Amino acid sequence: MAYDYDLFVIGAGSGGVRASRLAAMSGAKVAVAEEYRTGGTCVVRGCIPKKYMVYASEFGSAITHAKGYGWNVENATYDHNLFMDRMHREIDRLSGIYARNLRNSGAEIIEERVEFVDAHTLKLVMSGRTVTAKKILIATGGSPIMPRDVEGIDLAISSNEMFHLDEIPEHIVIIGGGYIAVEFAGIMRGLGARVCLVYRGETVLRGFDDDVRTHVHDELKRKGVRVITHASPKAIAKDDGKLKVTLSNGESVTADKVLFAVGREPHTRGLGLEKAGVKVNDKGAVEVDGYSRSSTAHIFAVGDVTDRLNLTPVAIREAQAFAQTEYMNLPTQFDHADVPIAVFAQPPVGVVGMTEAEARRQFGQVDIYKTRFRPMKDMLTGDEERVLMKIVVRAEDERVVGVHIVGPDAPEIIQAVAIAVKMGATKADFDRTCALHPSIAEELVTLREKFVPPELKPV
Ligand code: NDP
Repeated sequence: MAYDYDLFVIGAGSGGVRASRLAAMSGAKVAVAEEYRTGGTCVVRGCIPKKYMVYASEFGSAITHAKGYGWNVENATYDHNLFMDRMHREIDRLSGIYARNLRNSGAEIIEERVEFVDAHTLKLVMSGRTVTAKKILIATGGSPIMPRDVEGIDLAISSNEMFHLDEIPEHIVIIGGGYIAVEFAGIMRGLGARVCLVYRGETVLRGFDDDVRTHVHDELKRKGVRVITHASPKAIAKDDGKLKVTLSNGESVTADKVLFAVGREPHTRGLGLEKAGVKVNDKGAVEVDGYSRSSTAHIFAVGDVTDRLNLTPVAIREAQAFAQTEYMNLPTQFDHADVPIAVFAQPPVGVVGMTEAEARRQFGQVDIYKTRFRPMKDMLTGDEERVLMKIVVRAEDERVVGVHIVGPDAPEIIQAVAIAVKMGATKADFDRTCALHPSIAEELVTLREKFVPPELKPV
């Protein structure tokens, strides 16, 4: 049977664009459909604008710190409209580059939503046209969860709207204790808002190493974020021009904006996957094997829609592996182990590998090396911020299985450390490496003493 396309990609985000380009450049006839904007969450309403907002917010403390170094910076002000305008112009530019690169590779861009008719046929929803494809790649990403059981949820916003705020709210309540909640708490605080973070657990950033979690939690509070734990929102109501959030613990907080950052869900609803025999799990994520192949052999899925490790570079690598396997005669599975992760909290987090708890569970005996210190720069600024560095070592062969950093430039540092960890470096390899002085990162190669918990120390 002759198909309209060799490959039809649904979603022009990080994964979809990479797969489309590689397949098209290998000679396949490719179309990619996008219902919103080329570039997807990362470029349009995720990583990129978020990082610009982090940069914008950091100038607040940088200006204060400058005084410690002799700079006179009186009357510094922040112009939100100017910043937003510049940021969105840059997003437009990047989105344009993605579209141009796609076209240059030979892929066709279809700017509308598509849904499955059957396993080889897709309907273009706006135009009503149907197209057929030999292979289909689902790369639709995810979208923010807005819990319907919270009364008045429509008064709240998601991270999508945070990139279009007309002004910095005087007071914002953020629900959640994950990546997005912690990142926006820092951004909003840095830009001058009063921030209240409401988390249902004890310490933010579940899933991260306990020392990292405590460090970030304490730094949030030290920076002036009010953190309410063991509480969830029950209802949101308008109250005298503000929004009143009633919490499960009986408390209520009033704010100008309420941001829900309680996770993201795979974007599969309404796609008609059942008509194509594509199985999804209980969270709606497309079930795939190591080659990103779904339960229907010629339909594949990469990125957040598969809910494996929801990060842009992972989606790109899964997409690359798919294209290599299917179009370049080079069967490839992406290895999801030891992917470096950053949380752009303030100070930021950079981690790679296992947490201490995971390593103890898996290997039993582990050695821990860790330190907390005030960075040199702050000796003159007077800031009390602390850096955390922690190395988790498998005792039997001294292999470094986890590195955890909270502090300035942690994401930059961890990207380089991840190479060593991925190569299987041992603690002795770290020790053999000469320090670079003066730097924060030098602590990674000068940590000599194993950490012994106080309760195990001989008295
Ligand atoms: P996360 O899964 O990171 O965190 C969700 C948070 O919301 C958790 O603290 C969770 O609590 C809490 N929560 C979940 N359900 C409820 C509920 N019904 N009521 C109250 N609280 C609730 O999700 P995010 O939205 O922060 O981010 C989504 C994903 O996007 C991340 O997991 C990550 O993969 C990606 N991302 C990555 C970034 C980066 O790489 N820097 C930046 C931003 C996003 P609990 O801990 O108890 O489960």
